[in-house]
Amino acid sequence: MSQSPRPRIGVLGAGQLALMLAQAGKELDVDVLCAGSLGDCAAQIAPLVEVDLNNAAEVAAFAQQVDLVTLESENIGAAVLRGLNLYPNADAVAIAQDRLLEKRFFQQCGIGVAPYAPVDSLGDLEAAMAATGLPAILKTRRMGYDGKGQARILRSEDAATAWTEVGGVSCILEGMVRFDAEVSLLAARSRSGEIVFYSLIQNVHRAGILRRSDAPFEHPGLQAQAERYLRDVLERLEYVGVLAVEFFFLGDTLLANEMAPRVHNSGHWTIEGAETSQFANHLRAILGRELGSTASRPTVMLNCIGTMPSVKETSLFPTLARHDYGKQPRPGRKVGHLTFAASDTAAIEYWQQQLDRD
Ligand code: AMP
Repeated sequence: MSQSPRPRIGVLGAGQLALMLAQAGKELDVDVLCAGSLGDCAAQIAPLVEVDLNNAAEVAAFAQQVDLVTLESENIGAAVLRGLNLYPNADAVAIAQDRLLEKRFFQQCGIGVAPYAPVDSLGDLEAAMAATGLPAILKTRRMGYDGKGQARILRSEDAATAWTEVGGVSCILEGMVRFDAEVSLLAARSRSGEIVFYSLIQNVHRAGILRRSDAPFEHPGLQAQAERYLRDVLERLEYVGVLAVEFFFLGDTLLANEMAPRVHNSGHWTIEGAETSQFANHLRAILGRELGSTASRPTVMLNCIGTMPSVKETSLFPTLARHDYGKQPRPGRKVGHLTFAASDTAAIEYWQQQLDRD
């Protein structure tokens, strides 16, 4: 492994998360290289190495070019990840990339989850529906994101259609939770074991895609409860880097939905809203540097889905921060986000309406 004076970090993936990690890297005097495909958006600011992320030999060759490796997607096979100088470690990623292992792990940590049952065949689905009750959601164990790989089952007659819709692969069936809010907590744990937490975030999704995040989400005792959960998760996994856990909040209870072993869309507000962004703290954590303060001010983030509003339109609102990922417009695609001080209610309302049209 080469040890250059400026640390070289390799990111597996070259989408918007890698792009923002590379931006943070510039401020920390760190070189960030991305592994991905030609045309991936991180290549706008970081060197891109063309790598097939499913090919262990190609990924290993990429890892040779850097001091340490991290990732922007949990959907890279654990077999490809093992043996790399990878933060977070491959075992943690393996749990986070499989909804069944993830649910069992949360339960081992004493964290509540929605009722669920494994489903490996249409026959299993019958028994699973009895276990979870209806309505329920059939979710593929692997490769699901932004609501993909999911089918809702409202009545038992929908079972066969749902099974076909998800492609007849290993799944879990999850009872629908009538949540009061969806919230997430982001934490960073460094190589020395230091842990910092951001404030709880309230998230609004549409069709499985995050549309809006508000920080902080305030409810008595909830921040402390969520922090206890994450500390346990981080320590059991010997996790290094930023971790996001998404929860359903109902009554005064948190049920864990899923975790992302990486920087997370619900933490994009930290670029402007916190003293240290999730991206900077992820890099600090994996480099073994002291973590930065997570002190923050109330902030709102709106995702731009499908198309990006023009600079001309957004410049009429000088207080918003516009992040354009430089991606081709496409329905359902995250192409950028806007960040506001939470007190900027008129601008938030205006842009929420504009962006909800997509
Ligand atoms: P996921 O990919 O599991 O994060 O699901 C995407 C979105 O679908 C979540 O953010 C929720 O809005 C919704 N969802 C997923 N699972 C459930 C559930 N068990 N009950 C209610 N809503 C759910």
